[in-house]
Amino acid sequence: MSPSDPVEIYVARDSQDAHVAQLFLESRGVSAHVVGDFADAVGCGTGGLGIKDTAPKLWVLPEDAPRAIELIREYESSRSRRETEPETSGSGDAWLCPGCGETVEPAFGVCWNCQSERPAP
Ligand SMILES: [Zn+2]
Repeated sequence: MSPSDPVEIYVARDSQDAHVAQLFLESRGVSAHVVGDFADAVGCGTGGLGIKDTAPKLWVLPEDAPRAIELIREYESSRSRRETEPETSGSGDAWLCPGCGETVEPAFGVCWNCQSERPAP
């Protein structure tokens, strides 16, 4: 171990999660590296084997680790908040078309019957 060995602070669920976490850290002044992300390994000839088994990880410099760990906690709690909040689009209650009075499934932004736009909530 040399003093500059990077510290693994976070194991992401997938590549996107890793990069979002990385951006979260970097936007707060902590430089982080994504390690084990398949996107970075393209061209190594792995042929797609084991992609699902390889969770990307975030590495930071040792001097950044305490701050990075704090930030990752913040990141994870904000992420779980997002996931428990109801979606603001694409779900919810069915709505009544102002044009024809039909009930329209929440996934649709326009009436299936007369193509009226969904009224603003
Ligand atoms: Zn309608």
